[in-house]
Amino acid sequence: MTPKPLERYYSILSGKEKARYLLCPSLGEKIKAAKRILEKCIFCERRCGVNRIKGEMGYCRVLEARISSEFIHLGEESHLVPSHTIFFSGCTFRCVYCQNYDISYYPERGIYFRPEQLVEKINNRNARNVNWVGGDPTPNLAYILGVLGCLGKNIPQVWNSNMYLSEESLNLLDGVIDVYLTDFKYGNDGCAERLSDVKGYMRIIKRNHLIANKQCEMIIRHLVLPNHLECCTKPILDWIKENLDNVYVNVMGQYRPEYRVMEYADINRRLHYGELEEAVSYAENLGLDLI
Ligand SMILES: [Zn+2]
Repeated sequence: MTPKPLERYYSILSGKEKARYLLCPSLGEKIKAAKRILEKCIFCERRCGVNRIKGEMGYCRVLEARISSEFIHLGEESHLVPSHTIFFSGCTFRCVYCQNYDISYYPERGIYFRPEQLVEKINNRNARNVNWVGGDPTPNLAYILGVLGCLGKNIPQVWNSNMYLSEESLNLLDGVIDVYLTDFKYGNDGCAERLSDVKGYMRIIKRNHLIANKQCEMIIRHLVLPNHLECCTKPILDWIKENLDNVYVNVMGQYRPEYRVMEYADINRRLHYGELEEAVSYAENLGLDLI
């Protein structure tokens, strides 16, 4: 029988199984390897190669891990709530409609917590999971592994990301993360480059979803953008249907025109109700597991 999406996640919640990072024999090695990468950073596919230990800044401009907020989030998918979301400052994308631009674009904002301090916060929160997010968590991979190295609590780890990671980063997360909560934004490279300043989006995002789908359980989010049903939403949903197994898909309609969207006429409005309806019924007709 094929497993249900999130079956293992629920086994961890019920105490029947352990969170993967607790079972990972190479966590110590992964922490060391991630620290070495900081000297020539390739955590994301921009592969800047800067030495962040020496204070060089790459595209994301993230140096030490800064947390803009951490709290119990009640607005995530029902399977995840209450979720202990840990928001890192800084991002590997530059989305012109970013709804968190006050953290994504300002990696210097927020507070540095020593790993033991963050461990204490995680231990004191009564949540179903730890939800590593931002901005994007990718530039802080070494820090996150370091925190897990001293955590010890049986709680699922959720990687909440734009999935523009390098393969090296995905390998470091293998056997550590329990659920990938991914953001599949675009169905072609042109929209990705124009709206998020990302090159080669499709190749990387497809590759990473295929790898992540083999590693562990997944929830895929897609935020429907106004006027992007044909170029983005439908091709993404088609691709998920054809290529991924055992995943939940969240077709999201809460797009708000923010930040610099005045300069982009196609996305300078909220979604029409009919657009969301069309996106959801398209996904339903494909037979995707929607949440
Ligand atoms: Zn598009």
